[in-house]
Amino acid sequence: MPALERYAVIGHPVAHSLSPRIHALFARQTRQSLSYVALDVPPERLAAQVQEFFSGGGRGLNVTVPHKQAVMPLLDGLTQRAQRAAAVNTIARHAAAGLLGDNTDGVGLVRDLVHNLHLTLRARRILLVGAGGAARGVLGPLLELEPAELVIANRSLERAAALAHECTQRTGVIPVRAVELGALATMEFDLIINATAASLHDEVPALPPDVVRSAKVCYDLAYGRHDTVFMRWARGHGAGAVHMGLGMLVEQAAESFQLWRGVRPDTAPVLAALRTAGAQP
Ligand code: NDP
Repeated sequence: MPALERYAVIGHPVAHSLSPRIHALFARQTRQSLSYVALDVPPERLAAQVQEFFSGGGRGLNVTVPHKQAVMPLLDGLTQRAQRAAAVNTIARHAAAGLLGDNTDGVGLVRDLVHNLHLTLRARRILLVGAGGAARGVLGPLLELEPAELVIANRSLERAAALAHECTQRTGVIPVRAVELGALATMEFDLIINATAASLHDEVPALPPDVVRSAKVCYDLAYGRHDTVFMRWARGHGAGAVHMGLGMLVEQAAESFQLWRGVRPDTAPVLAALRTAGAQP
């Protein structure tokens, strides 16, 4: 019997990752024979581990915190969306072209918003809170939905301003601007996306409650067994619908799976299975 084709997620820590479970469900559903494991790789082992994995026959890696930027110089090429995000969450090995880095986070979020949650974002107003790696990764795909405006707010205003400036220079068509968190009190949005890491520390970004009260939908990129602290806070302040990033996680995984295997899994039953299990590895 031929050896199983090998895939893995590398991160540090990574034991909490749902990716092995998600990819096992995709493989079963699409009748693909593969193995997918979580590898805890400290930063000082990153280069050696990536090299060992692929020279030992590994076919693809997912990359998570804290390696999404650090892995980039180790690769032979980057897709346009990985270049735009300045971060890699998926690596595929190609016989001719070597190791290709991609970023499926942004397209994963958009698929969750549009296909799973049935949101229309064309000509709507979007607030993106946060200016870290995840915010950068989702910006391009969000702008492709042609919102009326996209506002970026962040604890450190200068990071939001730099991101908005970069975006305006690149696309230029849709208004993208940075504002201070406090200045949001008088503004209204159709969708508020929390792309900060605050929920991971059980904190909520210092948003004025009024901005959430007027929002139709609030979405936290973070996810867990229970509603995140941001979801509870937003609901408590009268937000319309409130969602966590579990759908994004499954959709970005499906995009990676398709890149590796050429088959697109049906994400709905996988998302349902994870929800039933309480989003546990
Ligand atoms: P980064 O460390 O790159 O960025 C952190 C961001 O959060 C910065 O904007 C930072 O602000 C802000 N921040 C951190 N703590 C607080 C706080 N207490 N209050 C306000 N702002 C805060 O993280 P990532 O961008 O990689 O990840 C962000 C989130 O996205 C995480 O929760 C992660 O789990 C989630 N994520 C979810 C995915 C999914 O598939 N659902 C995929 C990828 C990420 P400042 O600049 O001021 O420091």
